[in-house]
Amino acid sequence: MLKKVLMFLGLAIVGLLAIVLVKTAMFSSKQVQVKPVKVSVDAQTVAKRLAESIRFRTISFEDSKQFKGKPFLDLIQFIEKSFPLVHKHLKVEKINKYSLLYTWKGSDPSLKPFLLMGHTDVVPVATGTLKDWKHPPYSGKIVDGAIWGRGSLDDKVAVIGVLEGVEALLAQKFKPKRTLYLAFGHDEEIGGNYGHKAIGARLKKRGVTLEYVLDEGMLITDGILPGVKQPVALVGLAEKGYVTIKLSIKGKGGHSSMPPKHTSIGLLSTAVHRLERNPMPARIHGPTAKMFEYAGPEMSFGLKAVFANLWLFRPVVMGILKKKKSTHATIRTTTAVTMFNSGTKENVLPVHASVVINFRILPGDSIKSVVAHVKKVINNDNIKVSYANAKFFTEPSPVSSIDAKGFKVVQRSIREIFPSAIVAPNLVVGGTDSRHYISLCKNIYRFVPIKMKPSDVKRIHGTNERIMVDNYADIVRFYQQLIRNSQH
Ligand SMILES: [Zn+2]
Repeated sequence: MLKKVLMFLGLAIVGLLAIVLVKTAMFSSKQVQVKPVKVSVDAQTVAKRLAESIRFRTISFEDSKQFKGKPFLDLIQFIEKSFPLVHKHLKVEKINKYSLLYTWKGSDPSLKPFLLMGHTDVVPVATGTLKDWKHPPYSGKIVDGAIWGRGSLDDKVAVIGVLEGVEALLAQKFKPKRTLYLAFGHDEEIGGNYGHKAIGARLKKRGVTLEYVLDEGMLITDGILPGVKQPVALVGLAEKGYVTIKLSIKGKGGHSSMPPKHTSIGLLSTAVHRLERNPMPARIHGPTAKMFEYAGPEMSFGLKAVFANLWLFRPVVMGILKKKKSTHATIRTTTAVTMFNSGTKENVLPVHASVVINFRILPGDSIKSVVAHVKKVINNDNIKVSYANAKFFTEPSPVSSIDAKGFKVVQRSIREIFPSAIVAPNLVVGGTDSRHYISLCKNIYRFVPIKMKPSDVKRIHGTNERIMVDNYADIVRFYQQLIRNSQH
């Protein structure tokens, strides 16, 4: 009997191993094979212009009273002066005074236009961090092969980089067949209501629909994705949604000498504890699953076998992804308890207590499903569940197609200009202004070819923001090539 069981087990293991090996062998590369393309760009000249654009303090403040318009107007003037051919050949519209929409009319009206976007505003320098900057944040210094300052990564790099690309093409007498829009918002960091939202509305009113949109969001990671030696150009196919929920409770109050078993604070704490213990379910799905389909075949054999056989190894992969905050955020709707308010005096029982929880919603979940989840988990009818700050709410974006022209053009252009990089789609865990174009365009991609090592991640919205001069020249090459590739 034992012999039979052992034999059966042995056969099962051999069978399983065979399936794993066959699936691994069939897990073939999804990278397009193209010849590297040389595009001539003078790295120093373009670096100087980006550096100069950084000197305009185009800051978006949460408190609108702090807004200063002059730096934005000065930046527009600088752009007009720096890109004369763009301003000679393209139609320019100013939207809400500080945002820009350019139209470069194509010769073939049967081709749907495409839109390249960016934003000119930057986040402020955090209080107390100024002294930690190697070079002052608005000095636009070029030192040690890098361009330093606010906006060098987010997002003047894209705005000025795209303009460089168009200016160079115009100098080469390039004539587009497909109409191209350039859209540059001025308030992305505070929601984009006066910039991209208004531009999107204007295009919509004109009945424009777009072949594809390219916005910021993801970049070329180097040494961030485990098991892949090459740099990985991540192209965001979708972004998470956003909802903030407030829980509140009203107790009886009274003196602290004769308290009930739970005060308002205790009851709400229990609810918070339950929500943190029971997040919404995790899943490898949509853009995150697609990322492994593209990156997996390029990994070392062991990891390749794992990603080729998610049917078997899914729990192991989930375990690994859950360990890091950055990867955990790509597989579930996250729960972040951010504000707690209650109590007035040490010997008085609190009457009111409230807590605010911010959720970032995975495609597939929704604002409605988050609310239902919260109610079910806290399971307490005395706690009121309401929305907080609804103006920022968004559902998760639709997921753009990897079979659409836009994705293919972006993918090809990356491989032509960054031949060592592999391309993989993925999910953006933050929000971008591209959501303002959802009704005009099915295929929105989020990518700027900034090369990022693990140690550079904290520079975004942080201290010592900078971009390497060589990298920036390649970014300008990329936009030129992207526009050329988008003409059929
Ligand atoms: Zn940005």
